[in-house]
Amino acid sequence: MLIGVPKEIKNHEYRIGLTPAAVREYVAHGHQVMVEQNGGLAIGFTNEDYEQAGATIVADPKDIFAKAEMIIKVKEPQPHECEQLREGQILYTYLHLAPDPVQTELLAKAGVTAIAYETVTDRNGGLPLLAPMSEVAGRMSIQAGAHHLEKANGGSGTLLGGVPGVAPAKVLILGGGVVGTQAAKMAVGMGADVTILDRSLPRLRQLDDIFAGRVKTIYSTVDAVDTYSREADLVIGAVLIPGAAAPKLLTREHLKNMKPGSVVVDVAIDQGGCFETSKATTHQDPTYVVEDVIHYCVANMPGGVARTSTIALNNATLPFGLALANKGLQALANDPHLLNGLNMHQGKITYKAIHDDLGAQL
Ligand code: NAD
Repeated sequence: MLIGVPKEIKNHEYRIGLTPAAVREYVAHGHQVMVEQNGGLAIGFTNEDYEQAGATIVADPKDIFAKAEMIIKVKEPQPHECEQLREGQILYTYLHLAPDPVQTELLAKAGVTAIAYETVTDRNGGLPLLAPMSEVAGRMSIQAGAHHLEKANGGSGTLLGGVPGVAPAKVLILGGGVVGTQAAKMAVGMGADVTILDRSLPRLRQLDDIFAGRVKTIYSTVDAVDTYSREADLVIGAVLIPGAAAPKLLTREHLKNMKPGSVVVDVAIDQGGCFETSKATTHQDPTYVVEDVIHYCVANMPGGVARTSTIALNNATLPFGLALANKGLQALANDPHLLNGLNMHQGKITYKAIHDDLGAQL
């Protein structure tokens, strides 16, 4: 199959659909890959790296869209990219169509077969192509929190791990899923005093096993949020109720009881945020202050570490992408989990939740 990888054009998006190592894998399976010139340069993947892996470098993205049988990207196609897609072509990328009727309509018009990373499933009911970005955001949340706790960055001047003779900082993590677990790993590694709240008892049991006494696991109630937020130096918001807006667990009243210069990182901001006072911020201007508490609410945290994120994403997308390249649409018939990724085909919405939200508008 002829595969095309255009450079991402969304503002400050430095990730790319395929790493040179992934290109090599496709080529080893007998496929041809076109990569847009300088597509990975911002994260250290040069044109020569891609050429050595077997790709052809293409200067004009129009040629990629016109010729490729499958387009592999990271972010949803922008309107003028959508206009270049066509029936019989496969688009494999993050799409997030439900809140985006404009893109949905453009993809319907194009007739492209669109497979969304975020709805591909695995045997355990998980979302394997979303998990790597949650892992990145979870680990990064502690890094961001530690940075903003420093005095020069507006924080209370508290070191997460303390030092011998000085107690470590208290980190409260709301939600012990993928993000929360990775955040806890980083916080524990830095020597912080970590508490995780979750409302799933089976999950709390797993966390108790994973961390073997190194974190406190607490059942999530209004009372628990109130008690543990009062003493926290850093709060990480990592809850998710699939398909719903995040519940507002930490309120303005809670902030009033927190120490001045504490930091709250709302990773769940892409689902509306789980703090009452959260509003989405960017890597260029990541924080603001409410009630003397620093808020970090960057909606696309993985974009900040685009090189790590690209490699992590490729590790997850490669097996499904290879199946599509090797077998074409037959790969969907062979794998119900990949089939769950199918969002649009020949102008029709093929994913129920998106059809329920947007079907009537098309
Ligand atoms: P997940 O499903 O693995 O974990 C969510 C956890 O929240 C579950 O364990 C669930 O039991 C728990 N939970 C639900 N309601 C709760 C409550 N009331 N109190 C405490 N816990 C509760 O999800 P995840 O992959 O860890 O993602 C968490 C959030 O981070 C999602 O909103 C996701 O979209 C977001 N995210 C954001 C970025 C970013 O760049 N900002 C990146 C990746 C993920």
